[in-house]
Amino acid sequence: MATLVEILSEKTREGDLYEKLPDKRVRCYACGHCCPIGDGLPGVCKVRFNRDGILYVPWGYAAGIQCDPVEKKPFFHALPGAMAFSFGMLGCDLHCGYCQNWVTSQALRDPQAVSAPRAVTPEQVAARAVELGGEIVVSTYNEPLITSEWAVAVFREARRHGLMTGYVSNGNATPQVLEYIRPWVDLYKVDLKSFHDPHYRQLGGRLQPVLDSIRLIYQMGFWLEIVTLVIPGFNDSDRELTEIAEFLSDISPDIPWHVTAFHQDYKMTAPDNTQAGDLLRAARIGRAAGLHYVYAGNLPGRVGEFEDTQCPGCGKILVERRGYRILGYHVTRSGTCPDCRQRIPGRWRN
Ligand code: SF4
Repeated sequence: MATLVEILSEKTREGDLYEKLPDKRVRCYACGHCCPIGDGLPGVCKVRFNRDGILYVPWGYAAGIQCDPVEKKPFFHALPGAMAFSFGMLGCDLHCGYCQNWVTSQALRDPQAVSAPRAVTPEQVAARAVELGGEIVVSTYNEPLITSEWAVAVFREARRHGLMTGYVSNGNATPQVLEYIRPWVDLYKVDLKSFHDPHYRQLGGRLQPVLDSIRLIYQMGFWLEIVTLVIPGFNDSDRELTEIAEFLSDISPDIPWHVTAFHQDYKMTAPDNTQAGDLLRAARIGRAAGLHYVYAGNLPGRVGEFEDTQCPGCGKILVERRGYRILGYHVTRSGTCPDCRQRIPGRWRN
């Protein structure tokens, strides 16, 4: 029986995001690692590899497909209540011990992570999204940056059906990959995991490329939302949360910041699960740093006003939520508050 490595080595095509180096070596630009890769070897993500001086990248399969509320991604300022058709491939450039998608993200790195790739075409993915009532197509479950060639092919088809598109990403990008996806990606969620470089190194990355990418994603006009999974003892000090919030507020106070609750998963089983009080503390730190839209996620009914979107001008509740359900929606067709007419940033229904 063929191994997963053998199966995946067939489901590839030549990548776009790389340059050739002397001696059949290549350099990949799909993520912030910018791996130099020798002939016959894979990059850090294990799913992009050099064969005879050509970089081959994942193509022609999905390892996960599901339709979820867009609030689950989470995007709170993009078509509230819409279904987001989500697809993923295999592999990741990081190896977070608490990954909730480790079965797909850690394939080829962790022998326990076994997930069968299913052959599909971009046309089939887009058609299925329409069939299931998706309004948004999202690349998620594995790190989308490292499978950007495939995501762009799917999004081209999604656009032909009038669908919005998005990335749910760790944000370890490069200017090259952001330029490459910009024409095809509307929404971009970055999981900002910490504000300390040693923490990022523990997860297999570095802090600076993520911070640089967040600035660039905002400047390039993607619709950007940030999530921080608040992990007791890892990133939940007042100081670190303040640093994150001030960094975002300095780029723009209009960037939504979601603070969400950690639960023990995969290899990270030592920290306690995050309590509602921890999320409320983090959310108040976000507000104090000047952020207009701070959300406390995944503990529905226990975080009060931090589930709703409030007008920063007059305080009116504009989108009322309970978990992933929309209970009230009052943003005008032109994307403003109906009472004070303040513009509410996002991608609203018109
Ligand atoms: S996607 Fe990132 S980890 Fe994978 S080969 Fe390219 S630069 Fe390396």
